[in-house]
Amino acid sequence: MLIIRNLKKVYNQGDPILSDVSLELGKGEMAFLVGPSGAGKSTLIKMIYLEEKPDAGEILLGNYNFTHIKDKQIPRMRRQLGVIFQDFKLISERTAWENVALALEVVGKPKRVISNKVSDLLRLVGLLHRKHNYPDQLSGGECQRVATARALANEPLLLLADEPTGNLDHDNSQSLLKLLAKINVQGCSILMATHNMNLIEGLPQRRLYLEDGLVRENES
Ligand code: ADP
Repeated sequence: MLIIRNLKKVYNQGDPILSDVSLELGKGEMAFLVGPSGAGKSTLIKMIYLEEKPDAGEILLGNYNFTHIKDKQIPRMRRQLGVIFQDFKLISERTAWENVALALEVVGKPKRVISNKVSDLLRLVGLLHRKHNYPDQLSGGECQRVATARALANEPLLLLADEPTGNLDHDNSQSLLKLLAKINVQGCSILMATHNMNLIEGLPQRRLYLEDGLVRENES
């Protein structure tokens, strides 16, 4: 489903941030991308949603090979992805409901479909009762749940989560992890970057360790 081969990324002609990264994530799989701050986790995630381009190597997602993708195919390709970020990136002038609905409006879904789908998504993340609240009336944990509902709106193959618990306290972080595991069980693949090893201790999912520009499957 996601195949990354020999990826290299250099910023400003410096030392490579990623020197030779290869990994595979199967359909319906969930993995944690772990490594210290500055290791390049965000950079790798950005390349998977085509925010950054690699200097060498290739990324294949579903039927797309990013090396050969045309600019006009990028919006459609991105619909296979949902992304959540540390800082939620919700629109402050829109309610929880409207933030999720926007993801469906921009792809031209009819009003009735949007209405049903937004209800389903907010119910999934446990926030239907907060649908009329604006982001500044919601806790950090609730904002991240709204962002997660929005990321799932177009039924992505893969949910990318870039340090999604970075602004959450311990309890909210744990409950977000439970939500992600539930979403994964429903069939969505998930790749979550985190520097917080304590948070994921004891969890059964795969760990991909990013350090010194390389990804290793097992900690040595
Ligand atoms: P992580 O997510 O693991 O904390 P990042 O991918 O954010 O790591 O950053 C890896 C390194 O790349 C850092 O040293 C960071 O300063 C550098 N970096 C990230 N983005 C850019 C950029 N746009 N231009 C130059 N350097 C960058």
